[in-house]
Amino acid sequence: MFSKILWLFFLPFPVLAGFFCPSCAADLSPILPASQPPIVSVKVLPEPIFRGAPGRVLVAGLPADAAVSGSFRDAPIFFFDNKGVMVGLFGADIMLKPGEYPLTVTYGSGSAAETKTVTVSVTDKSYGVRDIKVPQSQVDLSPEDLERVRVERIAVTKALNFKSPARLWSGEFIEPVRGRINSSFGRQTRLNGVLNARPHAGADYLVGEGTPVAAPADGVVILTGNHFFAGNSVYIDHGQGLISMYFHLSKIDAVEGQSIKRGEILGLVGKTGRVTGAHLHYGIYINGARIDPPVFRQMTATLAGDPYLPESALYD
Ligand SMILES: [Zn+2]
Repeated sequence: MFSKILWLFFLPFPVLAGFFCPSCAADLSPILPASQPPIVSVKVLPEPIFRGAPGRVLVAGLPADAAVSGSFRDAPIFFFDNKGVMVGLFGADIMLKPGEYPLTVTYGSGSAAETKTVTVSVTDKSYGVRDIKVPQSQVDLSPEDLERVRVERIAVTKALNFKSPARLWSGEFIEPVRGRINSSFGRQTRLNGVLNARPHAGADYLVGEGTPVAAPADGVVILTGNHFFAGNSVYIDHGQGLISMYFHLSKIDAVEGQSIKRGEILGLVGKTGRVTGAHLHYGIYINGARIDPPVFRQMTATLAGDPYLPESALYD
């Protein structure tokens, strides 16, 4: 309540007038010529963004039916409406080098289309190294296993490139399991003493075998399978290039093509694939960028509180 009162001190007078008296707000409208194009503003949050984190670009001031699209690092950005502000999600991949990168947004159509470019500052984050010991046969693969991995990789790549245009989720992502997170996202793995260049692209939840795994948000199951490294796996498309994945399951309770709701059980925690013990590996990709799932969950919780509402929203 106090913060709401405090807000009033920072609002410009015309906004205050409209806030207290809707008819005054109506009187202000002739000040803007009808032919003047809308003032469109573009903002990236958070700023800066660290590698492995999700980001969002907010576009305010567009007419309700305006087309808007964007791109970052050659990946598309899809937009959805959040209380009159168009929001597009993107990711700073875990392997992205710190630096300044352009992000473009295009809105309008035909000859009236406009493109704005904003700069995304990506900063470094130290994720550390972890030591893991597995049977050497899971490191030096046999020709049969190499061929198996090659075929599985084709199916996984196809799933990760899945880009259904509509947003299938809303609200806050929930945790897929309740339990301790071994926040190993981003860590490099020293596998049997040899450092692997690829960082760990998910969060591991240390929970017992048989623990039910829930879908964190609505989506469609686009891939299930038993894979060499990931074991029993489920991939969910949440729309607009947002894909989540669940590895090492003891049992899969979902089928490809199935619509799944937030909280619905997709399988049970297990220790299938290349693991040292039972746990859930939970990964999230945004249009190919590998990002930290718990950080993404926090972002979905804050979307409702984004400060960047268009001025018209203050007259509601
Ligand atoms: Zn993992």
